[in-house]
Amino acid sequence: MKVLKFGGTSVGSPERMKKLLDIINPTERQIVVLSAVSGTTNSLVEIGQAYLVGDKEKAEVLINALKEKYEYFIKELFAKPEYLEQGKEVIDYHFDLLSNLSKDLFTNIEEKVILAQGELLSTTLYHVYLKEIGVPSVLLPALDFMKIDEDNEPIVDYITEHITPLLNKHPDNNLFITQGYICRNSFGEIDNLRRGGSDYTASLIGAAIRSEEVQIWTDIDGMHNNDPRIVKGTKPIAQLSFDEAAELAYFGAKILHPQSVFPAQKYKIPVRLLNTMDPQAAGTLITNDSEKDRIKSIAAKDGITAIKIQSSRMLLAHGFLRRVFEVFERYRTAIDMITTSEVAVSLTIDDTTYLNEIKSELAAFGSVDIDEDQTIICVVGDFGAEKHGYAARVLEALKHIPIRMISYGGSDHNLSLLLKTEDKTEALRSLHHRLF
Ligand code: ASP
Ligand code: MG
Repeated sequence: MKVLKFGGTSVGSPERMKKLLDIINPTERQIVVLSAVSGTTNSLVEIGQAYLVGDKEKAEVLINALKEKYEYFIKELFAKPEYLEQGKEVIDYHFDLLSNLSKDLFTNIEEKVILAQGELLSTTLYHVYLKEIGVPSVLLPALDFMKIDEDNEPIVDYITEHITPLLNKHPDNNLFITQGYICRNSFGEIDNLRRGGSDYTASLIGAAIRSEEVQIWTDIDGMHNNDPRIVKGTKPIAQLSFDEAAELAYFGAKILHPQSVFPAQKYKIPVRLLNTMDPQAAGTLITNDSEKDRIKSIAAKDGITAIKIQSSRMLLAHGFLRRVFEVFERYRTAIDMITTSEVAVSLTIDDTTYLNEIKSELAAFGSVDIDEDQTIICVVGDFGAEKHGYAARVLEALKHIPIRMISYGGSDHNLSLLLKTEDKTEALRSLHHRLF
């Protein structure tokens, strides 16, 4: 049984929603995961923030504006008055819920309830649409089976246990629709898998039901070998390993939620990235094996801050790195890249919420230098220890650009460089020209 996930733009207009049936084959048993209509989650975030700061008027204005969009949406989606009426009821239900939240105490719990409405709306409206055109389908409530634990980690066994009986209840039904992104947490409250989390939902369901394949349908024909917004002539990568896809998703390729690679990898479920606008295009296939001996792709991640700690006491001292890392751990700040010398260590972070606190604690070890506005360039491919020549080709392409850090050998698939964001465009173009 396949799992197909459609992103926000793929359900972004009534027209697009209707076109999903060009891709979905309703005679095949499958699970379809939908995102919220594009723009909706952003609006819900704003509504939640307005409530959180106590600005009920602003929240009401935002709610009404969003509701208007949906009223227009259903007019285009449904042809028959009775279904338009059903669509209207769906909208009223969800928007009444949003408005009524102003009456009670508003906390993070209510905020997450707000964020969940986008996927609930898109899936319910699509379900009603399928009814109108006579395509049988079953709506599976994600809140009945998607679960995260106290560390926000999804529990695959729980998902298997709870989704299987729901599927078994409908042995003759082919098409199952469910919400991406939303889940319940360890308290049983409504929660979510973070922005872009619908990919993660699809991969988790794929793992939970041991799916034959997970398809992620977006608006680009797979993962490209460089950033198509910056470099001309980029090409989709036909095939990637899970490790390579994880590096790329994390370091900038916006097409895939980084964590979504792991459940598929663990349960060996092939993941295909496909393009709703061009369904025949081959896209990118992610599996356990990978073509050897090739540089596959280049990605970039902006908004990086580099921190250098220089210490004469580091020389000969064991336990020094541990103490440095503990500072970051205390402030729950993840480190992306790290390079060391005998007397100094440089590392990078992208979350600077606690930069000042971190800096002053690190000052106890030695001198601390901060470089902001940095970009990580990540070259992904097959660079096993027995390989030679790849690092030279990468550095040759960048010989005219100042490099702040180089990280190689951390895995067999990644060579990362840190440089100034202002040099990114030139670095991506020059690498593209040299490597492909
Ligand atoms: N609707 C959510 C978001 O915009 C989840 C997703 O689309 O994947 O982040
Ligand atoms: Mg997405």
